Amino acid sequence: MKCNKSKPINDHLLRSWIRCRRKAWLEIYGDKQKKLWTAHSTLQLNHQIDCFHNLSQKSYGIGIQACKEGKNIAYGIRLKYPLIKNRIIKANLPILRKTSGESIWGNFSYQPVLARQGKKVTREHRLLLAMKGLLINNSQKYKVKKGLILHKENEVIKVEKIKLTDHMNTELIDSLLSLERDIESKTPPPITSNRKKCTICSWRKDCDAVAIKEGHLSEVSGIGSKRELLLNKIGINNIEDLAKIRPYKLKEKLEKFGTQHSDISKQIILQSQSQKTNKAIKLNPGIALNKLKEAKDVLIYDIESDPDIKHDFLHGFIRVPNHLSNEINHKKIKYSPLLNLEKDTESSLWERIKRKINHHKDIPILHYGETEPISLLKLGLRQGASSNEIDALKKRFIDIHFLIRESWCLPVRNYGLKSIAEFIGFEWEQANTDGARALLWWRQWKKSRKLNNIYSKNLNSIFKYNRDDCIATLMIAKWLIDKA
Ligand code: SF4
Repeated sequence: MKCNKSKPINDHLLRSWIRCRRKAWLEIYGDKQKKLWTAHSTLQLNHQIDCFHNLSQKSYGIGIQACKEGKNIAYGIRLKYPLIKNRIIKANLPILRKTSGESIWGNFSYQPVLARQGKKVTREHRLLLAMKGLLINNSQKYKVKKGLILHKENEVIKVEKIKLTDHMNTELIDSLLSLERDIESKTPPPITSNRKKCTICSWRKDCDAVAIKEGHLSEVSGIGSKRELLLNKIGINNIEDLAKIRPYKLKEKLEKFGTQHSDISKQIILQSQSQKTNKAIKLNPGIALNKLKEAKDVLIYDIESDPDIKHDFLHGFIRVPNHLSNEINHKKIKYSPLLNLEKDTESSLWERIKRKINHHKDIPILHYGETEPISLLKLGLRQGASSNEIDALKKRFIDIHFLIRESWCLPVRNYGLKSIAEFIGFEWEQANTDGARALLWWRQWKKSRKLNNIYSKNLNSIFKYNRDDCIATLMIAKWLIDKA
């Protein structure tokens, strides 16, 4: 591997590095053919366009010329400067806003603007703002004091002013130096121990393969970055070590770090054994499966949401009118999508959902994970459902995720719907889809609907995806019964 001394560092590379050191290295040296497409970058870009659109003003221009002319907004600026020794640092600044000051262009200056998704301002936002701030300072020969961060809250664009401090600049330079060291190395930095980050990373396929080959502890479901460190401290460094240790020994060793760690000793050992041997291990489900075994007729329920505005836009149901141990033909399953176009149309949604679930009175409602019952019960309470109605509804829910965890240790990295469905051999009709992709389709469809294109392909894709989520839940429930 040739190390890259001359390549400029840009804002994109810095963002990757802040997320995961290995990601930045892979962006330069990784085999691009192994990269997966993820919907996250498109969602982020669309969000950025929405936010920046809100700042638009009559007086605007393109490039550095707009700054020279003192326009209120300058779009599409690219700047570069060796912020660290012998290394050009480049940044794309999609938008700059005019503010007070004394720049080389007149008695005004420009400040950097970022758009953020997520709940709060993070280190990533602060460092990127600092980087863009330093590059602007150098061009305009004036030290801008604040940058802007835009975000959406319930469809309203909010603007936060962030002070650009010396402390942030020092942290930025230290980070650029560390990033430089990483990309000059011939070997990639280690796989992050916080593997949750990997679920939305385009390099995950490549890194998963390496982690499995090397037996990383972070591969074991139930082991996060903190627990991995504790296990390393007591001499357990890979899946093989963990699979070999006796539960009482591990419990004893972990006790000094707290019962939350020692109590799951047996569980993580079984999990590592299952993953190491690639074999499912049956636990003792007790009576947990009885309700499911007895059901002769079930509804399956799955929601699609827009987390940024806390909007559950699709409530999908399928009904299986037979005992789950019978043969199931996917193609014949009837799917009912209940769309909730806007957040403020909940009362009619609740009526439609009530009609749906009361039409099949008292039959169990199967779902995967806690989200569905929590959202539905909250919706009912907001719409004035009586305590009897809520209690009756609560009794009908059966969480298939809970039952899987109670009944089996499976050779999977996590117990999410996708992993388990894949393990039992179920495939989504549309390849490479996930919740983020469905959200992207939804946002695109919402925009096209405004242009009177109501029945678009995007809406059909969301329905297909949600239907398959329901069928995946059903097939896991069936697998549980067939293997009981
Ligand atoms: S998949 Fe995970 S470890 Fe690999 S580059 Fe992405 S975030 Fe880092």
